[in-house]
Amino acid sequence: MKSNAQRRPPLEAARPAYRNLNGWALAKLLEHHVVRECEHHGHVLDRADPAACSRAREAAWSDPFPCATPDECLGAIDDVMGGIGDTCPEC
Ligand SMILES: [Zn+2]
Repeated sequence: MKSNAQRRPPLEAARPAYRNLNGWALAKLLEHHVVRECEHHGHVLDRADPAACSRAREAAWSDPFPCATPDECLGAIDDVMGGIGDTCPEC
């Protein structure tokens, strides 16, 4: 269980607003280490980690993008994952 002793301040000023649902989904995938960015080229790569993927999906379900339903959020995650390969085309 997380402690409530240190509540985080509002993030609106510190974090850029995600422009759309797919941008939000990509951020979730990065946050949960489902995908990583190639350190040389910045391409997003699938880490092929099913456990990380299910954590990201659970997080998306319980904390969906504003104004989107959990189903739409999971759909966006599937969408984004569908466009991500596991090797960098430039490496
Ligand atoms: Zn690369």
